[in-house]
Amino acid sequence: LNRRLAEFGTTIFAEMSALALSTGSINLGQGFPDTDGPEEVREAAVRALRDGRGNQYPPGPGVPELRTAIAVHQQRRYGLSYDPDTEVLVTAGATEAIAAALLALLEPGDEVIALEPYYDSYAACIAMAGGTRVPVTLRPHEGSFRLDLDELRAAVTDRTRLLLINTPHNPTGTVLTRAELAAIAELAVERDLLVVTDEVYEHLVFDDAEHLPLATFPGMRERTVTIGSAGKSFSFTGWKVGWVTSAPGLVTAVRSAKQFLTYVSSGPFQYAVAEALALPDSYFTAFREDMLAKRDLLAAGLTEAGFEVFRTAGTYFITTDIRPLGESDGFAFCRALPERAGVVAIPNAVFYDHREAGAPFVRFAFCKRTEVLEEAAKRLRAM
Ligand code: PMP
Ligand code: GLN
Repeated sequence: LNRRLAEFGTTIFAEMSALALSTGSINLGQGFPDTDGPEEVREAAVRALRDGRGNQYPPGPGVPELRTAIAVHQQRRYGLSYDPDTEVLVTAGATEAIAAALLALLEPGDEVIALEPYYDSYAACIAMAGGTRVPVTLRPHEGSFRLDLDELRAAVTDRTRLLLINTPHNPTGTVLTRAELAAIAELAVERDLLVVTDEVYEHLVFDDAEHLPLATFPGMRERTVTIGSAGKSFSFTGWKVGWVTSAPGLVTAVRSAKQFLTYVSSGPFQYAVAEALALPDSYFTAFREDMLAKRDLLAAGLTEAGFEVFRTAGTYFITTDIRPLGESDGFAFCRALPERAGVVAIPNAVFYDHREAGAPFVRFAFCKRTEVLEEAAKRLRAM
């Protein structure tokens, strides 16, 4: 393994899912639903396969039906208008969108500011692109993790090329507010920065939180690469269909990288995701309400088990503090948890450069069936 990647090893998700399997534990580690997405969308995939749509290389930017559906979705939900031919790109999941965007937009030595804790592929992709990551740490404040805007401003230097934003935020469950996003947008415009914004949990926001795409703020549409995912929005993480919307020049750049990573993304699933994006609002409402009930169920169980539970405003993750349990090392805690309680979780420290800042935090996924969450809560309470 070369020097750029040496520090990354095996992703925590693979390690912890393997541990769940080998110990027969309930896997609340890796974030994937244990119930597949809508039946009619699966049927659409079967039909596409059977009718021979997408069984050979689809067009590089994605099939026109899906690009149009993505553009319609951005218009319908957010009033953002994108040309399906020049401003939309289909990728192999959001993971490839992140990689292709960073590989296309960074020069070696460019600094990328990312919110810490950050989704693990950000660090690896910045490294593969020869960039330097500059983490800005979200800190606990009144029950959730918040961004310090002064710290963000202070992190910008003459070498900063790009802000890598994620809202709703994995793993903290924070949803950036309108005021925070407006400040990020102002900073980007003032310092002429590009913004890559990972909005894969756009449909999972709860209570009074609202998902506001960064691209909707003044001066942002032309400098922002927005990323979405069918894995997250429709519970098909195995299909690996994601997308990018942005201005033509940026989409062309990302596509230039994408064409040499995967060339194209899986054909038949693209047709099915086009139908998923056109589902009525009732699908998205039911999806959100189902996850909200699951959040509340797991949060109550974790609280009863003695964890400090941070408020999840978005995503399907709950971040906890293990110090009330008399523990302080999330790594050690997560490695022991399968034996101790038959449950797998993720130590948030893996998402930090400042590992000590993340040490006592542990993430649990609640995108699981009710009975699974109830059993996990029971085991944790008995621990
Ligand atoms: N970004 C974030 C914040 C995620 O949590 C995930 C999925 N775990 C991804 C990107 C990757 O999405 P996909 O499965 O579509 O590649
Ligand atoms: N995004 C998911 C999570 O945060 C997992 C994705 C993966 O395994 N790479 O748990």
